[in-house]
Amino acid sequence: MVRDLSFIDEEKSCPHCKNKLSCCEAPPIHVGDGLGWGSEVMFICLNDACSLFLRGWDQIELKYGHHASYRYMELPGSPEGNLMMVGNADAFKACVINKEVLLAQNERYYKEKEAVEGLKTCLEKNDPQPVMTLLLDEAANKNDRLVALEYLKKLNDVKCIDPLRNHRFRDPAMEFAVRQVLESILNANFKKECPHCMEIIKAQAKKCMFCKENL
Ligand SMILES: [Zn+2]
Ligand SMILES: [Zn+2]
Repeated sequence: MVRDLSFIDEEKSCPHCKNKLSCCEAPPIHVGDGLGWGSEVMFICLNDACSLFLRGWDQIELKYGHHASYRYMELPGSPEGNLMMVGNADAFKACVINKEVLLAQNERYYKEKEAVEGLKTCLEKNDPQPVMTLLLDEAANKNDRLVALEYLKKLNDVKCIDPLRNHRFRDPAMEFAVRQVLESILNANFKKECPHCMEIIKAQAKKCMFCKENL
């Protein structure tokens, strides 16, 4: 999922308590009400000592006869203040956005997109980078990773072996398929894994050049 992250550097504060507003995921919208926030995120004052929040309980009790209060809210890119009705003090606290996580997710997404694009020309350029990016990214699209696996075999590049051998695949079927391709790359390059130290050595070696064990 790609999203507009222009809100990420916005700093907003509550006019009632001066506290910094928290950036939260917007609640899902009821399709029928035609309202919608027009935004995936909103900035909310989650200060439990905020005067608006403290006064709200009595105001709503008097006006509507139910147990709720208000939180101060602004949408990204707008200075306009809104009131959000909340049923308890914890509402929205679990939806606060972790900006670092969000930026990392976005960066991963762009790298994946770039790699999928790079797959188209990786064979003619003899460039294993897009293939490696997708195979090493557990969050990447499975079909794209399977295409990458096909190209891994065609690229037949010994340099690809170590990072993939050391990667922990979440999907055992994917891991098995990758291992098979690595095996075929080793064979095609007259290489093997040393059974003692797992380093890649010549297929016909009698002694490992890394651990010096006899084979
Ligand atoms: Zn406040
Ligand atoms: Zn060895």
